[in-house]
Amino acid sequence: MSLFIRIELNPAAEVVASLAGLCPVNIFAARDGRVVVLEERQDECTLCELCLKAAPPGSIRIHKLYSDEVLSG
Ligand code: SF4
Repeated sequence: MSLFIRIELNPAAEVVASLAGLCPVNIFAARDGRVVVLEERQDECTLCELCLKAAPPGSIRIHKLYSDEVLSG
Protein backbone atom coordinates (compact mmCIF):
# COMPACT_ATOMS: atom_id res chain seq x y z
CA MET A 1 0.00 0.00 0.00
CA SER A 2 1.30 3.43 -0.95
CA LEU A 3 1.94 6.18 1.58
CA PHE A 4 2.11 9.32 -0.55
CA ILE A 5 0.40 8.76 -3.90
CA ARG A 6 -2.61 6.81 -5.07
CA ILE A 7 -3.38 6.63 -8.78
CA GLU A 8 -6.83 5.85 -10.04
CA LEU A 9 -7.65 4.89 -13.64
CA ASN A 10 -11.14 4.78 -15.01
CA PRO A 11 -12.08 2.51 -17.96
CA ALA A 12 -11.27 5.25 -20.51
CA ALA A 13 -7.65 5.28 -19.33
CA GLU A 14 -7.35 1.50 -19.07
CA VAL A 15 -7.54 1.20 -22.87
CA VAL A 16 -4.73 3.72 -23.54
CA ALA A 17 -2.04 1.11 -24.22
CA SER A 18 0.72 3.73 -24.54
CA LEU A 19 0.53 4.46 -20.81
CA ALA A 20 2.46 1.30 -20.02
CA GLY A 21 5.58 2.56 -21.81
CA LEU A 22 5.24 6.25 -21.15
CA CYS A 23 5.60 6.56 -17.38
CA PRO A 24 9.27 7.29 -16.54
CA VAL A 25 9.05 5.26 -13.33
CA ASN A 26 7.00 2.35 -14.70
CA ILE A 27 3.85 2.71 -12.67
CA PHE A 28 1.62 1.26 -15.39
CA ALA A 29 1.64 -2.19 -16.94
CA ALA A 30 -0.43 -4.04 -19.53
CA ARG A 31 -2.46 -6.95 -18.18
CA ASP A 32 -4.92 -8.92 -20.32
CA GLY A 33 -5.28 -6.07 -22.81
CA ARG A 34 -5.85 -3.36 -20.23
CA VAL A 35 -3.57 -0.92 -18.45
CA VAL A 36 -3.28 -1.35 -14.70
CA VAL A 37 -1.53 0.54 -11.91
CA LEU A 38 1.29 -1.33 -10.19
CA GLU A 39 0.23 -0.46 -6.68
CA GLU A 40 3.62 -1.11 -5.11
CA ARG A 41 5.17 1.51 -7.39
CA GLN A 42 2.72 4.39 -6.88
CA ASP A 43 4.96 6.25 -4.44
CA GLU A 44 7.61 6.53 -7.18
CA CYS A 45 5.37 8.97 -9.10
CA THR A 46 7.23 12.18 -9.95
CA LEU A 47 4.02 14.08 -10.77
CA CYS A 48 5.36 14.69 -14.28
CA GLU A 49 1.79 14.60 -15.64
CA LEU A 50 2.77 12.76 -18.85
CA CYS A 51 0.05 10.20 -18.20
CA LEU A 52 -2.55 12.91 -17.61
CA LYS A 53 -1.74 14.40 -21.01
CA ALA A 54 -1.84 11.04 -22.81
CA ALA A 55 -5.17 9.82 -21.43
CA PRO A 56 -8.66 11.21 -22.02
CA PRO A 57 -9.52 14.18 -19.78
CA GLY A 58 -10.48 13.13 -16.28
CA SER A 59 -9.66 9.45 -16.81
CA ILE A 60 -6.67 9.43 -14.45
CA ARG A 61 -6.70 10.90 -10.97
CA ILE A 62 -3.49 11.22 -8.97
CA HIS A 63 -4.23 11.62 -5.29
CA LYS A 64 -1.55 13.24 -3.14
CA LEU A 65 -2.31 11.47 0.11
CA TYR A 66 -0.21 13.96 2.07
CA SER A 67 -2.18 17.04 1.02
CA ASP A 68 -5.64 15.94 -0.19
CA GLU A 69 -4.79 17.50 -3.59
CA VAL A 70 -5.86 15.57 -6.68
CA LEU A 71 -4.28 16.00 -10.14
CA SER A 72 -6.44 15.17 -13.10
CA GLY A 73 -5.92 15.76 -16.81
S1 SF4 B 1 2.55 11.62 -13.35
FE1 SF4 B 1 4.38 10.86 -14.45
S2 SF4 B 1 5.42 9.59 -12.94
FE2 SF4 B 1 3.34 9.87 -12.21
S3 SF4 B 1 2.19 8.10 -12.96
FE3 SF4 B 1 1.95 9.76 -14.45
S4 SF4 B 1 3.57 9.42 -15.95
FE4 SF4 B 1 4.10 8.23 -14.14
